[in-house]
Amino acid sequence: MEVKVFLEKLDGLVQELKESLGKANCLSELEEIRVKFFSRKKGYLSEVMKGLKELAPSDLPIAGRKANEVKQELLSLVEEKKHFLEKQEKEAALRNFDPTIPGRKPDIGTLHPITVVIEEISDIFTSLGFEVVQGPEVETDFYNFEALNIPPEHPARDMQDSLYITEKTLLRTHTSPLQIRTMLSRKPPIAAIAPGKVYRRDSDLTHSPMFHQIEGFLVDKHVTMADLRGILTLFLHRVFGPETRVRFRPSFFPFTEPSAEVDISCVMCKGSGKVNGETCRVCKETGWVEILGCGMIDPAVFKMVGYDSEKFSGFAFGLGVERVAMLKYGIGDLRIFFENDIRFLQQFK
Ligand SMILES: [Zn+2]
Repeated sequence: MEVKVFLEKLDGLVQELKESLGKANCLSELEEIRVKFFSRKKGYLSEVMKGLKELAPSDLPIAGRKANEVKQELLSLVEEKKHFLEKQEKEAALRNFDPTIPGRKPDIGTLHPITVVIEEISDIFTSLGFEVVQGPEVETDFYNFEALNIPPEHPARDMQDSLYITEKTLLRTHTSPLQIRTMLSRKPPIAAIAPGKVYRRDSDLTHSPMFHQIEGFLVDKHVTMADLRGILTLFLHRVFGPETRVRFRPSFFPFTEPSAEVDISCVMCKGSGKVNGETCRVCKETGWVEILGCGMIDPAVFKMVGYDSEKFSGFAFGLGVERVAMLKYGIGDLRIFFENDIRFLQQFK
């Protein structure tokens, strides 16, 4: 090929690009043109450049220089057009912007019902002068059992019920270790509650392998069962309403003596045992539902933490947060708390 023909072809490319660019009205059309000219395999420029191979060697310097110049010119033409179109599109977007269209509202999350109940209970007790304490979920055998007067052969330590990590560490099975941790770190008077997660090997309608408890305890001089009864009654009236009846039944726990279980009049049937003439499904017609366990702190526990049980006395109680939430909101299946179905959670806005 003669060099003249090659150079003409190059000039032709510039002309052709200018014409194409003149017709481009938007950035996507520009991109199509760019690909047509510059595509490495089949682009117009590549096609013309193939002609270099057919030139006489003496013509190559001039042809090569010209080819470079033309390539730069083509690129700058595309770049120039790109700036122009970008500016044009930006201006159009501003012209079409309607400031009166309402914005899109983001969905606002809500507190989980378990969190709501923990906060409510914490508020009640802090208003009575209790402080909130927290501790580790992985506990040692000492804090979880031994210091709470639960000896090695006690059924509560059964591998069937507890989730052990090593022989001497486990996921805490209750929030009671916080009694020991708090009492060991200071002297009475102490009034504290300890909300948190606890773990057991259990899973059905009313049991979950992880659930929430709130432990409460008070130690001072001259604390009696009457103080325990007074505080718990006040607490239960605040959570379930002042018409709620409260009763204490004798019970047994290793870390309290005497111990009691506390029932409240059934929230569903108001203690009548019937709902619309049918057996109440919550209390099974008894009119009462169990709500928590409590008692006077056992002298054996005081001995473990170095308190003089002749000088000090105290009470402790523990309740399941899910249990309170189920009764408070009339929920029959515990598992729904952990499924995180947004339709369920939205009801607690
Ligand atoms: Zn009932």
